[in-house]
Amino acid sequence: MTKWVYSFSAGRSEGSAAMRELLGGKGANLAEMAALGLPVPPGFTITTDVCAFFYANGHSFPPNLEAQVDAAMAEIGRVAGHAFNDAKWPLLVSVRSGARASMPGMMDTVLNLGLNDQTVEALSHYSGDARFAWDCYRRFIEMYSSVVLGVEHHIFEEALDELKEAKGYTLDTQLSADDWRAATGQFKGIVEANAGVSFPQDPRAQLWGAIRAVFSSWMNHRAIVYRHLHNIPESWGTAVNVQAMVFGNMDANSATGVAFTRNPSTGVKELYGEYLMNAQGEDVVAGLRTPQPLTEIASRASPGEKISLEAAMPKVFAEFVQVADRLERHYRDMQDMEFTVERGKLWMLQTRGGKRTARAALKLAVDMANEGLITREEAILRVEPTSLDQLLHPTIDPSARRDILVTGLPASPGAAFGEIVFNPEEAETLAASGRKVILVRTETSPEDIHGMHAAEGILTARGGMTSHAAVVARGMGKPCVTGAGALRIDYDEQCFTVAGRRFVKGDRITIDGSAGHVIAGEVKMQRPELTGEFAVLMGWADDVRRLKVRANAETPSDARAARRFGAEGIGLARTEHMFFEGERIVAVREMILADDAEGRRTALAKLLPMQREDFKHLFEIMAGLPVTIRLLDPPLHEFLPHTDSELAAVARAMGADPVKLRRRALQLSEFNPMLGFRGVRLAVVFPEILDMQARAIFEAAIEAGLSTGAAAQIEIMAPLVFARAELDFVKARVEAMAALVEDETGVRPAYHIGTMIELPRAALRAGEIAPSANFFSFGTNDLTQTTLGISRDDSGSFLGVYVEKGVLPQDPFVSIDQEGVGELVALGCQRARAGRPDIVLGVCGEHGGDPASVAFFEKIGMDYVSCSPFRVPIARLAAAQAALGGTAEGTA
Ligand code: PEP
Ligand code: MG
Repeated sequence: MTKWVYSFSAGRSEGSAAMRELLGGKGANLAEMAALGLPVPPGFTITTDVCAFFYANGHSFPPNLEAQVDAAMAEIGRVAGHAFNDAKWPLLVSVRSGARASMPGMMDTVLNLGLNDQTVEALSHYSGDARFAWDCYRRFIEMYSSVVLGVEHHIFEEALDELKEAKGYTLDTQLSADDWRAATGQFKGIVEANAGVSFPQDPRAQLWGAIRAVFSSWMNHRAIVYRHLHNIPESWGTAVNVQAMVFGNMDANSATGVAFTRNPSTGVKELYGEYLMNAQGEDVVAGLRTPQPLTEIASRASPGEKISLEAAMPKVFAEFVQVADRLERHYRDMQDMEFTVERGKLWMLQTRGGKRTARAALKLAVDMANEGLITREEAILRVEPTSLDQLLHPTIDPSARRDILVTGLPASPGAAFGEIVFNPEEAETLAASGRKVILVRTETSPEDIHGMHAAEGILTARGGMTSHAAVVARGMGKPCVTGAGALRIDYDEQCFTVAGRRFVKGDRITIDGSAGHVIAGEVKMQRPELTGEFAVLMGWADDVRRLKVRANAETPSDARAARRFGAEGIGLARTEHMFFEGERIVAVREMILADDAEGRRTALAKLLPMQREDFKHLFEIMAGLPVTIRLLDPPLHEFLPHTDSELAAVARAMGADPVKLRRRALQLSEFNPMLGFRGVRLAVVFPEILDMQARAIFEAAIEAGLSTGAAAQIEIMAPLVFARAELDFVKARVEAMAALVEDETGVRPAYHIGTMIELPRAALRAGEIAPSANFFSFGTNDLTQTTLGISRDDSGSFLGVYVEKGVLPQDPFVSIDQEGVGELVALGCQRARAGRPDIVLGVCGEHGGDPASVAFFEKIGMDYVSCSPFRVPIARLAAAQAALGGTAEGTA
């Protein structure tokens, strides 16, 4: 018989942390904590297999599930000493989701299950607090009805507001037991009116309703969106955890809180978290009340009246510190824990690997390796390469003046500026049209996730450091300020006021998620420091990686950034990018539109000194590191004059007739420019261009060699070659130019020549082309385009849908299509080496900065990858992880 249900209680457990796939993260860790003997309220987990069964069988459950749940409920009753409907002390349970990967707040939860018109009286007696009992009951009705019966939450809230108004109350705390009893009666009426059924009184019926609803919530809209954003497969499913309730809101000696074993924002080794006295767990996460710090140190560090858990409940605090420490050492990673104190007794409700910022991930990894908790190799594998992107983001220039409107909580580091928007849909729309926005909300909920994703940063008026906004923003690497309490937001008017000033939608603000500042206008930003733990971890990564990492760069500022980020040379300088700058474009157009070689030479003579300067800068900045310069590869249409005034400017420069010129431009226009007159074809047809570029390269290299004292490592590369003859043509012209420059200067420039492999034919004929080349650089952008027959420029209309519908696992322009394009690359490498064993093989398509692709290039034994400068650190770390044969785990 299949086992669908796994029980746990302190000191006894049928599951373990290793059973994450079956029990979900929450269930597996509850089982593990129970096995460690930690104080865990008794409960059980219904497996993810049941979820799979549920969806495969028209939302029905396996036949023997009911009996297993009954047995597990009986076991809870045995351990807890009471059961459902107990006349003295009724058992209440929570029903929570828990998938393999954490999906905070995305699925549904029901608390206080088991309450009905009888048990509420019993609870009232048992707790000696009628107010507490009736408050629990009305919360349960509210939650159960919205999750299970589909009654909208706001209807209850509105009824409650009316009741408060009638009584002249402003706060929930002013309601008495009788008030809550009255509210409960009203709530039951709301359920009948809106759901057409009376509120279920049988706890068993309640339980099955909740279990069904939680499994169903796996397919709710926000869960689907979240899975998409985080690449979580739908097939994983969720588990359901049923657990005896403990009450953090039973009395003044009760509390609930969340904590991290280290600071998840900075990585500093300190117990970090917050709690609320006399409250239920959801109150902390929902961010409706502002929680208190755990430790005395944190309490003193922040302004305002605070009472820490350490001061309020010293014994409980001491026990909690021990538990936290034990969990961190046991899991060998920073833990994110939820706990509740019921009448002075500590209960652990959850532990999991804590989400962390990239900065914290780095510091944790380096510190834990230095503490001996993990190895250096593990430290390298602990940091997700793409998360480094967060660290490479700008922060506010310390010398900039800050017109601070309000200081909230520094919930997720980094700075961002943009236009204010108040609603997530609008954030999404504006961002899609290229605008930068800051999403401003009173508080965020999981429904806002698409807007948060689209925004540059998030600002909320309410909520603590672990509110939804804070947790989600940190996961996304977006700057976020929460709890900016002085902000008065008016959604109707689309404005907020603060410190007597009014800001409307579209006004610009800057937020500093590291300091909690909200600043008027746009503030000067600065680039990040790449020192400290970043440098240490990168150093460790460099020690283990085999792949070299270069950058794609053609401007001096990109080249300098590339070096700062640790690039070991330039793998691709796209010379056509140099041709767009300022006045040059006129000369370039002149060259393209010229009738004959003579006309082209005149135009090229204007470009030569500029190109020489360009190359000289690159060689100087790279001081002796390889610099791969690609010969001109323009899709021609990008250079043709488009407007009359552009045409007139070129005509003037050439002394030509604009009408004639327009005709020539028309002649040159193409239907498929990407498959047209570009790449090496240009060099074959107009070799003057290649002559000019070769001359500029050699002369620049000689000059740079003199100024830096290091010989420039020249690599000249032909684009879009499909046959050896094309490369040989280029090679002969380059060789002739080298000889000419030697005659003129007396210096013989040393250089390598190679080609890009961007067309399937080139990959197939690699063995034949290789003897003519010192190196191959796979242009996987074009190779993807030409292998899949998908235009790089026109894929937007359908590729997203392909990924959404699962036709393709991912965008092949982002992560290499290993089976198709990858096979051509692998074959090309193999044949190239057979044709020329000492050939150097690299990649310079966008895939060079994608960790999954980097792992593939490592596997096929490539020599280097080259990517945009900001992705160089990502590629270095990805290359190290690939060399270690693993990928990042356990990080945000
Ligand atoms: C490529 O095609 O992969 C490449 C690097 O060249 P470009 O993107 O300039 O076409
Ligand atoms: Mg290309």
